[in-house]
Amino acid sequence: MRTREKSYVADHVNELSPSGIRRFFDLASQMENVISLGVGEPDFVTPWNVIEASYHSLERGYTAYTANAGLLELRHEINNYLNKNYHVSYNPENQILVTVGASQAIDVAFRAILNPGDEVIVVEPSFVAYAPAVRLAGGIPVTVDATEEFAFNVQADQIEAAITSRTKAILLCSPNNPTGAVLSKQELEAIARVVEQHDLLVISDEIYADLTYDETFTSFAAINGMAERTILVSGFSKAFAMTGWRLGYAAGPKEILAAMTKIHQYTIMCAPTMAQHGALEALKNGMDSVKEMCISYRQRRNFVVKALQDMGLSCHVPGGAFYVFPSIERTGLTSTEFAEQLLQEQRVAVVPGDVFGKSGEGYIRCSYATSMKQLEQAMKRIRTFVEAKIN
Ligand code: PMP
Repeated sequence: MRTREKSYVADHVNELSPSGIRRFFDLASQMENVISLGVGEPDFVTPWNVIEASYHSLERGYTAYTANAGLLELRHEINNYLNKNYHVSYNPENQILVTVGASQAIDVAFRAILNPGDEVIVVEPSFVAYAPAVRLAGGIPVTVDATEEFAFNVQADQIEAAITSRTKAILLCSPNNPTGAVLSKQELEAIARVVEQHDLLVISDEIYADLTYDETFTSFAAINGMAERTILVSGFSKAFAMTGWRLGYAAGPKEILAAMTKIHQYTIMCAPTMAQHGALEALKNGMDSVKEMCISYRQRRNFVVKALQDMGLSCHVPGGAFYVFPSIERTGLTSTEFAEQLLQEQRVAVVPGDVFGKSGEGYIRCSYATSMKQLEQAMKRIRTFVEAKIN
């Protein structure tokens, strides 16, 4: 058989490494009695009224495409929700795009704004899809590290120091995956001054906004002068426990949203119709369920943070999302060694911090979106592991 020296796959795709989270969980899925604090998704089932609304949409025969940008009624509800909760306002006719998860919103946002070689400042540790999304759109991710010293919140001067003549945009995520850090209004205002001064755009991933526990969440788009520079990305996966529905959205300046909608039109057509009907119900009548889930996550956060601190690990108290990001430095292990040995020896799956960027080395990410019973058991096992490594 003829052998080929060259790959059929495009170079820029070959150069991307597969997600570190998946690699680890393939390993865990082959083992028995594993407690997983790994995957970033709610343990709750989607609220019943949302499921029912989706059923009913099918029963009523809504099985065709919707408008490319999504059901107009849903875009109106998204605007009402954003306006009521986060004090930002968009024209549902031309400033909101309903997407296949926030993931697709991020993808189209970059494809709409980047010319080849444009730079995007990505704050790490970060959600694993950001840098690849920038690269797939022909851009270059430039990393800035959010450190524990500043409660994992990037500082405006760090961003400013990373700006070059090629910088087009900054990608912010608050509440953050993987650290749970929440940027304060003052921190956002300081970043906004830099954005204005250097004429930049911001992609603000606010998918965990409703899961903010201690302070009031501020949307970057609500900062003075930032609405016209911000592509706000969010979705239903986290707060509404709808990861499998694959529904998200982007909102922002008309010109950029028109460009994003054009790409979406040619590549996706529209987000799934029955999922859009479910999302409509989620926004209209789902906020009580979100509040209940949020209270439950907060209790679990408090339990997990205390348990980790009690076993001698330094653990910043995350203000939002459903992750803790403790330092494992005291054990003398690298993040990967810690995660692999913990899995082998105590059957608990966590994610090594360095999969979220180099600055995540020395940390692990534990998701607490799992039952209290499982969390109690997991914390016992981690304590046994840590004590053995420290002594
Ligand atoms: N942004 C962040 C910060 C996330 O953590 C995730 C999911 N892990 C996403 C976006 C993607 O969400 P979706 O399911 O809406 O595509």
